[in-house]
Amino acid sequence: MSWYRQQLKQDIPQLIAKWEPIMNVQVEDWGIKQMKTKWGTCNIRAKRIWLNLELAKKAKHCLEYVVVHEMAHLLERSHGDRFVALMNKFMPNWRFCKDELNRSPLGNY
Ligand SMILES: [Zn+2]
Repeated sequence: MSWYRQQLKQDIPQLIAKWEPIMNVQVEDWGIKQMKTKWGTCNIRAKRIWLNLELAKKAKHCLEYVVVHEMAHLLERSHGDRFVALMNKFMPNWRFCKDELNRSPLGNY
């Protein structure tokens, strides 16, 4: 497990640094934890995102999708039309990544 965590610790800051200027948001803090039902979560007030350790076993574009998804919550809290529009703008192929993740036993996201 520690190898997976190490991998994510390397990849996540790079992805956050890549997307912050594109999305014009600031992530104050981030972390990795094992979650049973979610790929990631976002604490909007603290501007902190949590990523599921299981993402280390997924393709890099899947990890990137979850990072962008959680960062998009800093712009829009809900999963409504505005959120979808943001995802379409920043990551036009996001549904492809989402479908790939949803084929995993972890379930829907
Ligand atoms: Zn979400």
